[in-house]
Amino acid sequence: MRKTLSALLTLVLMLSLFSVSALAATRVKNHEHTLDEGTVTQEPTCYTRGWITYVCTDPDCDYVCREAIPATGHNLDDGAYLVVPTCSGMGEMIYHCQNPGCTYLTTHIVPYLGHRMELDEVISEPSCTHPGLTRYVCAREGCHAATIIDFPSLGHRLDEGVLSVEPTCTSSGSIVYSCTREGCDYTKTQWVAPLPHTWDEGTITIEPTEHTWGRRIYTCTVCGATTPVAVPPLSAIFRLALHSGVHYSVDPDMDTTIRSDGELNFQIIFDDGWIAGDDFAVTANNAQIRQEDDGTFTICHVEADTRVSVTGIVRE
Ligand SMILES: [Zn+2]
Ligand SMILES: [Zn+2]
Ligand SMILES: [Zn+2]
Ligand SMILES: [Zn+2]
Ligand SMILES: [Zn+2]
Repeated sequence: MRKTLSALLTLVLMLSLFSVSALAATRVKNHEHTLDEGTVTQEPTCYTRGWITYVCTDPDCDYVCREAIPATGHNLDDGAYLVVPTCSGMGEMIYHCQNPGCTYLTTHIVPYLGHRMELDEVISEPSCTHPGLTRYVCAREGCHAATIIDFPSLGHRLDEGVLSVEPTCTSSGSIVYSCTREGCDYTKTQWVAPLPHTWDEGTITIEPTEHTWGRRIYTCTVCGATTPVAVPPLSAIFRLALHSGVHYSVDPDMDTTIRSDGELNFQIIFDDGWIAGDDFAVTANNAQIRQEDDGTFTICHVEADTRVSVTGIVRE
């Protein structure tokens, strides 16, 4: 009894697993059935499946089977607005099932549209110094949203400039730049540095001697300005006679470098042995120089690579 129940259950399970199931028949021939093209014996609906029934075309065979047609599901129409959306308000659509006999309906929220801004009026064109103003309004019917957008000012557009005052060797010149935009009279003046003097070849006003400095005066051929320059003594090759006894040569108006540390005491000696007087100046970078009562010089706080210069003093 229990075995029979189990077999029956298995049969029911098989019938539900395979959509094609043989119906009870009284006259089933033991042959390979030839099925007709089938007849819809139950139409499917949105929710329930239908059936196609096939029969064996052999008139002596009563074999019949059927195949399920899946439920169709709803067939919604294109929908209609329940609430029409606006620029800032949500809308709502309603959809109906078009399948015969089905009353299913559903609604969907439609997002708001946002404004469709379009150019309405150019209130003012931008200029060199003022922004331009333009009004935009929403083009959607029934919406009155408007906004004014300003475009930044253009800034001046200067030309290449005109030399309005020529510079000379005694005065500055100027260039005037003008804005080329229509209706703008802005100008900008830029100063031009004075020209250098045009020096002649100079005139000796004090002749140098063997051991004393002379003087040459240069004159500008344009404005007449003058500048004096010391002329080195005729026998001038200077040597720094340091206490250590080491001699360094210093050309007049040139530099030499003392590679030593500490405090140095020295004299300026001409190449012919003559000891220099007081008609020249001694300078040094990164050190101080003191002239002693006996005419010698002391360089204080000498660092490595202290640079000594000898320059003639120009006297009137
Ligand atoms: Zn058959
Ligand atoms: Zn439906
Ligand atoms: Zn709008
Ligand atoms: Zn301008
Ligand atoms: Zn000049």
